[in-house]
Amino acid sequence: MKFIAGNWKMNGTRNALKNMVGALKNVDTENTIILCVPYTMLCIDSGGVALGAQDVSVHEKGAYTGEVSATMIAETGAKYVIVGHSERRQYHEETNSIVRQKAVMALNAGLTPIICVGETMEEKQAGKTMSIIESGVRESVPNDAGHNIIVAYEPRWAIGAGLTPTEAEIAEAHKLIADTLIGMGLTEIPVLYGASVKADNAADIMSIPNVDGVLVGGASLKSDDFIPIITSVK
Ligand code: PEP
Repeated sequence: MKFIAGNWKMNGTRNALKNMVGALKNVDTENTIILCVPYTMLCIDSGGVALGAQDVSVHEKGAYTGEVSATMIAETGAKYVIVGHSERRQYHEETNSIVRQKAVMALNAGLTPIICVGETMEEKQAGKTMSIIESGVRESVPNDAGHNIIVAYEPRWAIGAGLTPTEAEIAEAHKLIADTLIGMGLTEIPVLYGASVKADNAADIMSIPNVDGVLVGGASLKSDDFIPIITSVK
């Protein structure tokens, strides 16, 4: 069983989500399917498909106009929330420390945080990929998270760019993440790969050791693109 998570970013409509959920009903799979959608879509009846949000406030409640708390997300019936996505880190200057606080809020509300880590092109070119990944995990993942978390390795330079690291690079990154989590006392944590996953590379990527699934952006928006990714692995 693999995790296949879609990240719709700021795309789609409630109707588009209803159509996607309808299409996914006919898919014969043992994989866990998660759709992380804009807040406004979280209340729809999603059948067996788990829904998630794409960000959460570090605050529980109060005068924080525009923010949405973990409790509010949980109240919709959503089960997951992405924290520390590359676009949040880039456009909202979210640091590992903020990402960790968000993960803690999610856990306290009974949500599973999908905690993203990954290096920029600048960091990759400076030979810092492994140290950025390791510090990303150590500083973004709460030590007492238990089993209720997912980590996603998303090389930031590859997201939405049609670029992917080599299989050896993905293997090395995922081994480091798995080892770092074990070093933190966190076992059996699924680690997903994300960045430019498509139907034609999904099966190969998910056959790499320590890759427990994928986080899919652009190719999760249309059922014709998303379903072949889901069915590419058992
Ligand atoms: C993402 O935004 O998490 C992502 C992986 O995007 P894409 O698949 O479009 O590269």
